This record gives sequence, structure tokens and C-alpha cells, in this order.
Amino acid sequence: MQKVTVAYGDGIGPEIMQATLDILEAAEARLEYDIIEVGEKVYLDGNTSGITPDAWSKIRKNKVFLKAPITTPQGGGYKSLNVTMRKSLGLYANVRPCKSFHPFVATKHPEMDVVIIRENEEDLYAGIEHQQTDEVVQCLKLITRPGSEKIIRYAFEYARLYKRKKVSCFTKDNIMKHTDGLFHRVFKEVAAEYPDIQAENWIVDIGAARLSDTPEIFDVIVMPNLYGDIISDITAQISGSIGLAGTANAGENLSMFEAIHGSAPDIAGKDVANPSGLLRAAVLMLNHLGQQDVAERIINAWSTAIEKGLHTADIYRTGLSSQKLGTKAFAQAVIAHLGEKPKQLQIADFDKEIKLQIKPYQRKEGIKKTLKGVDVFVDWKGKDANALASNLQKLNSDIKLSMITNRGVKVWPEGFEETFCTDHWRCRFELEGNVPAQKSSIHKLMAKALDLKIDIIKTENLYEFDGVRGYSLGQGQ
Ligand code: NAD
Repeated sequence: MQKVTVAYGDGIGPEIMQATLDILEAAEARLEYDIIEVGEKVYLDGNTSGITPDAWSKIRKNKVFLKAPITTPQGGGYKSLNVTMRKSLGLYANVRPCKSFHPFVATKHPEMDVVIIRENEEDLYAGIEHQQTDEVVQCLKLITRPGSEKIIRYAFEYARLYKRKKVSCFTKDNIMKHTDGLFHRVFKEVAAEYPDIQAENWIVDIGAARLSDTPEIFDVIVMPNLYGDIISDITAQISGSIGLAGTANAGENLSMFEAIHGSAPDIAGKDVANPSGLLRAAVLMLNHLGQQDVAERIINAWSTAIEKGLHTADIYRTGLSSQKLGTKAFAQAVIAHLGEKPKQLQIADFDKEIKLQIKPYQRKEGIKKTLKGVDVFVDWKGKDANALASNLQKLNSDIKLSMITNRGVKVWPEGFEETFCTDHWRCRFELEGNVPAQKSSIHKLMAKALDLKIDIIKTENLYEFDGVRGYSLGQGQ
């Protein structure tokens, strides 16, 4: 018997969890459950994180967590428990298999069988946001080398283990040359270690357009957090229903399994929700726990019920379905077909040794970091960049004002009068020539700015790494 933590969640959570546990029991899963409460009730009891210390310790002790969706109350400073859990527990890989079940579930994409592997901890989800002026708020997008390397390696190992042929990478590195550029660069480096697997890169906008139009050209897709969040929901939806897909959140020591949809308050308590997403998540969990025999039995019974047209309301279609079943009745239909195999849908045959081995990250030593100057961000309500520049030039020392941008567009020297400007100005001070700048020059500049009442709201040092520029140029520079 293996002990797993279980949370019944909110909205449709309790109904789909009960249906899933009933099927697991009937399929003789070798599991014991440690039940915890997380979500809405815990939030409303005054715990802004939605989870109690006791629940945390059970999750960490049992290491495997099957979680129903929860409701995050709107407003009131409640933090998303899902994001907290993924980041606090180091669940860096979010794996979402999205497959169509043609011709039994209506879809425009009969051939699709895509696995989205989404980075789960970084990117804009670091949640580091600041308002800096009356008019401007920023959110830091953090892409790290260890984070990128771990998730990309995970995608290639996953592809190899599940006998997939291709890994595609989605980024926007034509615009974000440094953040998405790093993700793409690491993708190319890691791909070179897997010559048996085809590797390709797509710009995310056209990649997403092709994925929603012709998903059959994709196999495994790896991407940073935000793109993965949006695109994996679309991918699940176009496979037939958001109610069909399960997901694994995998870390080095812990894993959390859940449906990809939310708590669906609009249909809660009505016994109409499709439990398949959570059930398929439970199957991913059984594979993770080495209970492939049970996983196969459940998927084969589920596929047989689907083939017979036994459908919940979300996938029920006249002509395709034979019976519209509620949540409980659908679970009973799956149970009634345990031991049977589908006739047309793929028969489940899971590899018995299903364990991903991810090579640990090795930090590169000896990279030469050279200070080249500083970007000083100034809150200024004026409009004429020349006026701002002549004031800022009073700060020149060995580092000199070389450029001013507004929302990334160069406005000095020689901007366009058509460029719209806010009260948030990036003012670049650089050393002329090829000698390193000194931190003390930046401190002197800041002290002088204080005397001149220039309102500096933040600074970013400019560095080269092994002689390669580590900061973006201004648009138009
Ligand atoms: P949702 O996924 O709950 O619902 C979107 C639509 O899909 C609704 O019309 C719903 O009825 C339908 N739907 C979802 N699951 C279904 C199922 N199993 N069977 C049939 N139909 C289904 O998204 P939402 O309405 O944006 O969010 C509702 C709540 O869920 C919010 O509080 C949100 O924060 C939370 N949420 C939680 C999770 C999670 O716990 N992992 C994920 C996403 C959203």
C-alpha cells in the first residue's frame, strides 16, 4: 500500500474526487489516503495562503498528492494556492498530455496527441511586481539557466521514455532576446545531447496558431510558464473538452496530480461534471507510483465506456453518444467495464519501468562578468526628452549619459516627436571605450542625483558576460 495525500477541493472538486476514488478502489489500486483540507474554506477561515501547516506537513511527508480543483476567493489578498504549492514544493515540470478520442468525442482535430511540458516556477509567475510611477507598473520576467535546463531536459527525457519523436520549443526570442533567448539557447544545447529526438523551435505566436489549427504536426512541446499556462488550456479544449485532461506537477522529490480545469462553480453540486480529467491525473499518479497494472486497467475501462457512447454532458453529442450520464453514473460505467479493452481507441500498455532520470544541473564556473554602466530609471513628469537629458548630463562622470528611452523606445538622442511618453524614463549611463566601469561611479551618480532632486526609482547594472552584452538595446538604437 502506498500512502498519498488527497484534497477534495471546492466546487465540483468533491464530486469528481469521489468518482475518481471509487474507480481507484474498484480497480484495486494499492493506495491509502491522507485527507487534507485546502482551498476556499481555509482561505475564508483567515488563512491567506489557503493551506494549514498540518496540510503542508502531510503533503511533504507522503510526497505524492492528488488534488481536486480549488476556488481562490476574488480580492482580499488571497494568494493562488496552486502557484504557491508548485513553487514552494519545487514542482518545476507541469506535464499535460492532450489527446483526442476521435470518433467518440467530437473534435475538429481527430489526429491530435500532444504533450505540453510547461515550466512551472519562473517567468512572470515569480510574482515580482512594482508600481514605480503614477503611470507605470512592472512585472519582472525571470528566466534562469537552471530552470530552463531542468525543464528542457525533462521534456527530452520524457520524449525518450514515451517513445515520442519530436520536441518543439515555443519562445518569443525575436522580441525578448535575453529572457526567451536564454530558454531557446539552452534548448539548442540540450537538444544536441538527444540526437535520436528531432528538435525544432517556433516563435510562440505562430506556433500557437499552428497548434490550434493542425495539432497533429506536434508531439512534445516545451515552453516557459506563461505561454504554457495559456496554450495547454487551449490544447486541452480543442482535444474535445477541458474536462478530459489531467496533469502532473513533478519535482525532484514530490509530485502533485490534478485535473487541468478549475472548480467549475457554475455546475457544482449538480452531478454533471466530467471526472475524467482528475481520473486521468490519477492514472499519471499510478504510473509514477509503479502501479502500471492498475493504470492500464482503468484507462482501458474508461476508453471502453467512451467508445460505447457513455458520456457526461460536456462531451455528449447526439449521434456520437448513447447515454448522457451524471458524474456518479459515469464512474459506475467505468467500474462496470473494468477488465475490458477498447476496440478502436488505443489499448493502454504502460512501460513497467516508468521513471524519468534527470541529470542534475551543474553550475558553470569562471564566467567573466564585466560592469559596463547602469540604466537609471527616473520618474519625471515632463515631455521634452532634451530637457531631461540636459539635467541628467550633470551626473556625467567616467560613465556618461548615452541614451534615454521611454517604454523601451529611444527618445534621446534624436527621438521622434510622435513617440508617446509616460512618466517612466530609462536613462543609460555607459563608460566610453572598453574598460570596465566601477560600482563607485554608480554610487557617486546616485548621490549627485539626490542633490539635484532627480527622482530615481530604480537602477539596473549593465554587464557583459564573457564579452557578450547582457542587456537589451533601446528600440531605434
Ligand atoms: P473552470 O475550469 O472551473 O471552468 C471553465 C468552464 O469549463 C466552465 O463552464 C465549467 O463548467 C467547465 N468545466 C470545467 N471543468 C469541467 C468538468 N470537469 N466537466 C464539465 N465541465 C467543466 O474555470 P473558471 O470558471 O475560470 O474557474 C473557476 C474557479 O476555479 C476559480 O476560482 C479559479 O481560481 C479556480 N481554478 C482552480 C484551478 C485548480 O485548482 N487547479 C485551476 C483553474 C482554475
